[in-house]
Amino acid sequence: MTPPPSRHDVVIMGGGLAGLTLALQLKRRFDDIDVIVLERRSHPVPHAAHKVGESSVEIGAHYFDTVLGLKTHMHGAQLRKFGFRFFFSEGRRDIDQVTEIGASRFLSVPSYQIDRGIFENYLAEEATRAGVRFVDDALVRRIELAQDPHALHRLEWTQDGETRVAEARWLVDACGRAGLLKRKLGLAQANAHDCNAVWFRIGARITIDHWSDNAEWRARCEPQARWLSTNHLVGTGYWVWLIPLASGSHSVGIVADPRQHPLESMDSFDKAMDWFRRWQPRLYDELDGQRHLLQDFAFFRNFSYGCKQVFSGQRWALTGEAGLFLDPFYSPGSDFIAMSNTYITDLIAHDRAGRSVQARAQLYDQIYHSFYESTLALYRDQYALFGDPEVLPAKVIWDYTYYWGVLSQIFFQQRLTDLALLGTVREELQHCQRLNVAMQDFLRAWSAKSAKRNPAVMRDQAALPWFAELNRSLNDRLDDEAFKARLRASTTQLRALAGEILQRACAEHPGLDNDALRTVLADHAQPPPAPAAPMLFAA
Ligand SMILES: Cc1cc2nc3c(=O)[nH]c(=O)nc-3n(C[C@H](O)[C@H](O)[C@H](O)COP(=O)(O)OP(=O)(O)OC[C@H]3O[C@@H](n4cnc5c(N)ncnc54)[C@H](O)[C@@H]3O)c2cc1C
Repeated sequence: MTPPPSRHDVVIMGGGLAGLTLALQLKRRFDDIDVIVLERRSHPVPHAAHKVGESSVEIGAHYFDTVLGLKTHMHGAQLRKFGFRFFFSEGRRDIDQVTEIGASRFLSVPSYQIDRGIFENYLAEEATRAGVRFVDDALVRRIELAQDPHALHRLEWTQDGETRVAEARWLVDACGRAGLLKRKLGLAQANAHDCNAVWFRIGARITIDHWSDNAEWRARCEPQARWLSTNHLVGTGYWVWLIPLASGSHSVGIVADPRQHPLESMDSFDKAMDWFRRWQPRLYDELDGQRHLLQDFAFFRNFSYGCKQVFSGQRWALTGEAGLFLDPFYSPGSDFIAMSNTYITDLIAHDRAGRSVQARAQLYDQIYHSFYESTLALYRDQYALFGDPEVLPAKVIWDYTYYWGVLSQIFFQQRLTDLALLGTVREELQHCQRLNVAMQDFLRAWSAKSAKRNPAVMRDQAALPWFAELNRSLNDRLDDEAFKARLRASTTQLRALAGEILQRACAEHPGLDNDALRTVLADHAQPPPAPAAPMLFAA
C-alpha cells in the first residue's frame, strides 16, 4: 500500500547541479522552508567521470562562492581557473609558434574548474546540513500539476521498488535532459544552433605548459600554470577543451559544427584519437601513451535547445538543462543556473509573502529568454570563425565586454529581479543587444575575408588595462544611480569597441559589408565615442 503523501513547500525533481544549488539558495533565504530534492542516482557519485559542465565563469563562480556562501569549498576542494586560453594549433605540434589568446596573470574576479562528482557530493551534504530533505535513489515517475490556485502539485516517485507520493505548493523540474515537465507540457523548442560534442576524462594531468621548452614562451604567464585555464585548441568549425579537475583527472572534449566536422568522425574514443592525430597532433602525442587511463567517453548530438517557458505563475518552474542550454564555448551553463535559480527563489519569496506571482513570472520568463537569445548570438553560425587568429581575438574581447559590462553587472549587483530599475535602463540594454547581433554578423563577414595570419604572439588580455578594470569592476557595490551610470558606461564602451573593430576590419578589407553595424551604431542619441587609447590588441 502506498504510504500517505508527504507535504512540502517545494519539491525539486533532480538533485544535480541546478536542483541542489536551488535547494541551498532557498534554505539560505528562508530558514523555515520545507524543501525536498528527489535524485535518481545513488550518492556518493563518482569523482571526475560524472557529468560535463566543469568550467565556470564569473557569474556562476560568484553564485557558488558568494551567493551560496561556498567559498571554503571552492577554494579548498576545487581548482582556481586561470581564465580562458585559446591556441590556433590546428595541424601543429609547435604550440609556442602559434597565436595564443589569454591573460598572462590572474584577473581580479575568481572562477573555478569544478570536479562535478566532488561538487555534487558536497552540495548534497551541505543541503542536508542546511535542512533540505535530500533523497537519492529516488525516481520521479508521474506528475500532476495543481489545477486551481490553492491546490498542491502531486508527484509519484519510487525508491527500492516502493511507490511514494509527494505534494507541494511549488514544483521545480531540475531533471536535466530528462526534461520531465518540458515533455509533459510540450515546451520543447529547437533553436537552429546545431552542434555536437564528445568528451572523456583521463586519469592524468595534461600540463600544456610542458608542451614547449621555449623559456620565453613559458615565462609569458605568471604563474607558469596555463594548465589551470580552460584551454581551447581551436580550428575552423570546432574547438577542443582541456579542463583540469581537482581529483587529478583531466576533462577533454571536442565541440564541432557538423558542417565542418561530423559527429561520426569522433563518436568513440578511438575515433576521437584519430581525429586528434589529424587536427590537433600535439594533444594526440600527449594522450596516445595514456590510453589505458581513460575513465569514460560520451557524446551529445545537437546539444543546444530552447524552451517555450521556464517560469509559471501556476507555481512551477524549470531550471538548468531541464529548461534550455546554449553552448559550452564560454561555459555559460552555470551562469544560467544561477540566474534561473535566483528568479525561482524570488518568485517563491513573493508567493510566501502572499503576493500574486502571475505577472512577475511572465516578466522573469521574458527577461531570462532575452538573456538566452542574446547569448545564443555569440555561438550560432560562428563556429567557422573559431579557427581565425585575426578575428577570434577581437570576438573574444567583444563577447567578454558584453558579458562583463552588461549581464555580469546585473547579476553581481543583485539587480536581476529589480524590474523597476531594469525598466529605467531598458533602452541601453536593447541597444547593446542589437549592437551584439550586428557585431556577430560583422565578425562572420570579416572572417570570410581575413588572411588568418597566425603569428607566434600572445594576445594578452591582462595587458589591456580597460579590460582588466572591467573584470575588477564586478566587485564594486553600486547604489541605484551608480548602477544606471555603470550600464550607460558599458554601452558607451561597447559602442567605442564596435567602432574600433569596424575601423580595423574595414581598413584592411575596404569592401567589407558594414551597413548593418553602422546603422545600429547610428541609432543612438550619442555619436560613437572615440576611445582615448586603442582598445584592441595591436594588429
Ligand atoms: C558538451 C557540454 C559541455 C558543457 N560544459 C559546461 C561548462 O564547461 N561549464 C558549465 O557551466 N556548463 C557546461 N555545460 C552545461 C552543464 O552541463 C549544465 O549546465 C549542468 O550540468 C546542468 O545541470 P542540471 O542540474 O540542470 O542537470 P544534471 O546535472 O544533469 O542534473 C539532473 C539530475 O536529475 C536527475 N534525474 C533525471 N531524471 C530524473 C527522475 N525521473 N527522477 C529523479 N531524478 C532524475 C539526474 O540523475 C541528474 O542528477 C556543458 C554542457 C554540455 C552539453
